[in-house]
Amino acid sequence: MEIAFFSTQSYDRETFDRFRGDHRLHYFSASLDEQTVRLAEGFEAICVFVNDRLNGGIIRHLAGKGLKLIALRCAGFNNVDIAAAAEAGVRIVRVPAYSPQAVAEHALALILTLNRKTHKAYNRVREGNFSLERLTGFNLHGRTVGVIGTGLIGSTFARTIHALGMQVLAYDIHPDPELTFAEYLPLEELLRRSDIVSLHCPLNASTRYLIREETLAWMKDGVMLINTGRGALVHTIDVIEALKSGKIGFLGLDVYEQEEHLFFRDLSETIIQDDTIARLMSFPNVLITAHQAFLTQEALDEIARTTLNSLAEYQAGQPLTQELGRQ
Ligand code: NAD
Repeated sequence: MEIAFFSTQSYDRETFDRFRGDHRLHYFSASLDEQTVRLAEGFEAICVFVNDRLNGGIIRHLAGKGLKLIALRCAGFNNVDIAAAAEAGVRIVRVPAYSPQAVAEHALALILTLNRKTHKAYNRVREGNFSLERLTGFNLHGRTVGVIGTGLIGSTFARTIHALGMQVLAYDIHPDPELTFAEYLPLEELLRRSDIVSLHCPLNASTRYLIREETLAWMKDGVMLINTGRGALVHTIDVIEALKSGKIGFLGLDVYEQEEHLFFRDLSETIIQDDTIARLMSFPNVLITAHQAFLTQEALDEIARTTLNSLAEYQAGQPLTQELGRQ
């Protein structure tokens, strides 16, 4: 099959080329949006990532040019107008479980780095500063973590932090009966009792701005907030106010609501126009990574294998194992 790939980076191309078989993959580094949509015209299948724009207009336009299949090489699908795709007869596959460990371990990396300030220690020592002043952390053992969303990633994260001796509180509309060590609570109680809150639910109408002024007020003073889910799970302006007041003591973000204009590119020589992220970057207790929680070799291999398998199933006219709504 001929497939147009959007938002590709070197690691995507290297991994997909290893698994591609007879498929002809057309790699574009551009993301899919109204300006680049012409690149996808005439392709029966396109492969896209988290920030490619698949709104109704783009889907209908491409369906009119022959698009039949959208392959998301990610788990989240908040960037796709699913109803428009169904109406246009365009099927959607995704990679629901490429590596929950990759994301869970990155959430833990954010916690450990913010807490023990290894990023600051690294820079200090490189400059010959061996002082330990202002590097004091706290023991994770015995602390309470609130896990919001205990699906594949959240439950993996919960098991990992439980193994470190942390108390696990959980909030999910579908509790996982296998997480016997976790105490499921209503959101307010979880937020009132947690030293660390980590977000692992999908972005949808019920979770947009789950963390906002009202829910931030329930949290402990000095709480650590970790978001490896999706940017709009938090109301960023409210979070900035909570950082200024000290309500949030540590903030670890791998996702950001306006990330499509920033992440996955080198903007080091340009003037950042987004004042909100610039303000976030100015806090000494904020750690931002650019949507890299998924980025392990194991996850990349699994993303490529699953996506190419879906394309093979489609080509053979078989049921699509990873079709959205099927799993
Ligand atoms: P999943 O579907 O296995 O789990 C999501 C869980 O959230 C489910 O248990 C569901 O019941 C729960 N949930 C849904 N709505 C809720 C609500 N209103 N309140 C509380 N819980 C709710 O998904 P997953 O594989 O664990 O992934 C979770 C999210 O992580 C994805 O949707 C995606 O946005 C994000 N993600 C980020 C990265 C990254 O690189 N940063 C990588 C993969 C996934």
